[in-house]
Amino acid sequence: MKFKQTRKDRTCSNCNEAINKGDMYGQKSTSITGKETCWSIDNRPTEDIPDWAWSNVRFATKHDWCKPCGEQKEAS
Ligand SMILES: [Zn+2]
Repeated sequence: MKFKQTRKDRTCSNCNEAINKGDMYGQKSTSITGKETCWSIDNRPTEDIPDWAWSNVRFATKHDWCKPCGEQKEAS
């Protein structure tokens, strides 16, 4: 994990500690695969939505890590 200095206050997603402005922090991105259907809530058939109507979507989320957590993560 690369560390850089933050220019704004952040919160570590691992320990929930504050990362203050000027502190070193790292970022980790995780991708979550979710399912999405083209039907809006109102147009959805009342019966179960068939498999073909679903498509997989990937969401990328970024998490901030404080330096101690990031280093611990690297070491493990
Ligand atoms: Zn942390």
